[in-house]
Amino acid sequence: MSEHIKQFSKFIPLLIVVLAITIFFMALVSYAGISPLSDEAFCLRNDISGLFIEKEALENDLLELRSIASDPQKEKERYFENAMTIESQIKEGISPYKAAYLTFDDGPFNLTYEYLRVLKEHNTLATFFVLGKTDYLPVYEAIIKDGHTLGNHTYSHLIRKGLYYSPESFIKDVLKLDAFIKENFNYEMTVFRFPGGSSSSGKMKDKCINLLHENNYNYVDWNSLTRDAEIRGLTLEQAYNYVMPRALTKDFSVLLMHDFNSASLGALPTIIETLEENNYVILPLFKESLAVH
Ligand SMILES: [Zn+2]
Repeated sequence: MSEHIKQFSKFIPLLIVVLAITIFFMALVSYAGISPLSDEAFCLRNDISGLFIEKEALENDLLELRSIASDPQKEKERYFENAMTIESQIKEGISPYKAAYLTFDDGPFNLTYEYLRVLKEHNTLATFFVLGKTDYLPVYEAIIKDGHTLGNHTYSHLIRKGLYYSPESFIKDVLKLDAFIKENFNYEMTVFRFPGGSSSSGKMKDKCINLLHENNYNYVDWNSLTRDAEIRGLTLEQAYNYVMPRALTKDFSVLLMHDFNSASLGALPTIIETLEENNYVILPLFKESLAVH
């Protein structure tokens, strides 16, 4: 037995040398990075860092999306950018769609809330050309809160009692409403509608338009109407039949209604549905819209 041990112990130095050489080479190979395994590890590390970059980009996108969702101003800017693209394509004749703008004048009224309800039910945004009415502050607020455009229709609407007396009297009335809305709601209006339409300003029209532009406003008239301010006892069928045939002939259809009128209110759901069935995209007005001047 001890003979065996003696013989084996002769090999111990040799074993140590072989072991040392093996360890030395393994260390060398690993240090130089020439093993096929380390190549794979290198690729894997690259892939992982690539994934990390992608993950970071995704997280940034998500942050941006979240900031848009929590920033109504940004959300609105993006909305109007898209609206502008749709309008340009319609104008160039390369869109399957047309554009329609629902506009409601002379408010706010108590019935405005009902209009807001119908618009919400149809997921539709519109434009309310309002006057100065200190008793209706919550209604202005409801219009703004629902995301509709608040348009300037002068403070007084006194067509025959001084509004169009001179360009100065005109712009004074426009800016009075501008200040009233800014002070109460911190809202900046940029679209305007002349009481009675732009032709009511007569020979002053060009001067009035220049004054509007100088004060950061564009204006819009209309090309179809329910005649709800002209005809007493108008039925909702009549309102629909007045506005619709003409509205459907236009690529940019601007519909005029008044939100005190129950016939226009009754016709509104069918008006919206018919426009949509005829490939109209219903948009609120904004300063850069191709429908305003
Ligand atoms: Zn009016």
